[in-house]
Amino acid sequence: MAQQREITELGNPVLRQRAESVENISNPKIQQLIDDLILTAAEASGVGIAAPQVSESLRIFIIAGTASSRYPDAPETEVRVVINPEIVSVSDEVEKGWEGCLSIPGLRALVPRHKYIRAAYRDRNNNLVEEDFLDFAARVFQHEYDHINGVVFLDRVESSLEIITENEYMKLVTESDSEEEE
Ligand code: ZN
Repeated sequence: MAQQREITELGNPVLRQRAESVENISNPKIQQLIDDLILTAAEASGVGIAAPQVSESLRIFIIAGTASSRYPDAPETEVRVVINPEIVSVSDEVEKGWEGCLSIPGLRALVPRHKYIRAAYRDRNNNLVEEDFLDFAARVFQHEYDHINGVVFLDRVESSLEIITENEYMKLVTESDSEEEE
């Protein structure tokens, strides 16, 4: 049965390590970890979570499936389990967008990311998947991919002026939503 795991926070060395490739995806411990990641992300209203965020230094992350209260504008998609990923190609076009992180509570920042990426990875059944990600999904993928390389979103922020608190971010989102409705 899936268990909710404790989320590591910035300062924990596991978040700064390059995670190891997964050798045996069918191993029950790996399958358990995947179930735990899905549950832990859902309970924390995250749009994704990487194994180092639950103290497992392995190249696995998930991209969560449902719209989240932390990201009210996130589109609904199915859950993806991403194992041993590679980014095959990226767009020249880079866009800044707001990001937060379950391991860095209370902060949001504007982070430049490739607008489009093509990735290759294994799913939890060891199938090789090649998939294109655009906009928000590409952003989440790049954020989680950074985690398995020991990088966090604050490392990519271009100016400390583009870091704000989650409370202020929520005001921004609420205000822009009401403007759209007017
Ligand atoms: Zn994160």
